[in-house]
Amino acid sequence: MARVYNFSSGPAALPEEVLKKAQREMLDWQGVGMSVMEMSHRSKEFTSILDSAKQRVKNLLKVPDNYEILFVQGGASTLFAQIPANLAYGFETVSYLDTGVWSSKAIKEAAKYAKVNVVASSKAQNYTTVPDLSEWQIDPNSAYLHIVQNETIGGVEFDFLPETDLPIVADLSSTILSREIDISRYALIYAGAQKNIGPVGSVLVIIRKDMLERSQDSLPSVWNFKQLALNNSMINTPPTYSIYLANLVLEWLDEQGGVSEIEKVNVEKARRLYQKLDSSRLYSNPIDPAYRSRMNVPFILQDESLNSEFLVEAENAGLKTLAGHRTVGGMRASIYNAMPLAGVDALIEFMSAFEKKHGY
Ligand SMILES: *Cc1c(COP(=O)(O)O)cnc(C)c1O
Repeated sequence: MARVYNFSSGPAALPEEVLKKAQREMLDWQGVGMSVMEMSHRSKEFTSILDSAKQRVKNLLKVPDNYEILFVQGGASTLFAQIPANLAYGFETVSYLDTGVWSSKAIKEAAKYAKVNVVASSKAQNYTTVPDLSEWQIDPNSAYLHIVQNETIGGVEFDFLPETDLPIVADLSSTILSREIDISRYALIYAGAQKNIGPVGSVLVIIRKDMLERSQDSLPSVWNFKQLALNNSMINTPPTYSIYLANLVLEWLDEQGGVSEIEKVNVEKARRLYQKLDSSRLYSNPIDPAYRSRMNVPFILQDESLNSEFLVEAENAGLKTLAGHRTVGGMRASIYNAMPLAGVDALIEFMSAFEKKHGY
């Protein structure tokens, strides 16, 4: 069977070369006579995979030496609780920007640990934009400021950061490695693996070392950032196969020329798709053009009764998982690093033919 273009928001498409390499190494990883899944996490073989993944993250994102790179078990949702548990100790408030579904979920979890100061919210605009910096009311006494720089469901992305003395904590689950960022501006960034890094199972955490001192001994050990850093992410058995595949994806990204090169492709993919949406009478994207996501492109059909036909015919054309999030409806094309330009072109071609067929 031929591989399709998979526009899933996560777990998302992986580069075909990566899957083929994993297939080749499935039964016997580099002559050791077993699969990575069967290896001890303490073996020198697996430790070399973990170290390689960390080194690649360091190079690809130009992570300064005063940061630790961790692969933490669970999902980004685990971090919604783990972050305030580690970083809010001794503080009364935490500050959160609210730009959509994932911000709101992070706020809900943080409220279990501290009083949440919502610095600004775009809820009144139905989360179609990002509040202007001049409106952000950051509490200078908060433990940190939390932001979600790409709202995966809403399709809203921003790249600016406020000038603040507060440590900036960012959920980059669906934008990490898709564009260049300046790590030194952040105290902590985190990203669930299943969008742009690899299969689900681990969360990449990059944390400035001074922040580790906030982690209290009273925390559950497996949640304690300081202990995780001291133990090379191995307080208990880490998700070894997820980390192995992440390492292969990072290697693939290196071969593509790194983040700056893939960013150019991502810019072009998004440009073409939004241009299609903006020049169409059938399709449209509701997001403020200044903050449209490069990674997740939601769109609606003018005539919603065509939705199911659109999805069925797209599937027949090898274009899968285009239905919007169950809470939002409409369509959404997630076009992460692993989606080639040819996949976006195939989608645009299909959309044009569908539109024509229906007289738009
Ligand atoms: C997918 C996603 C999450 C949640 O990830 P889980 O692994 O399901 O917990 C959180 N934040 C953002 C921005 C996401 O895209």
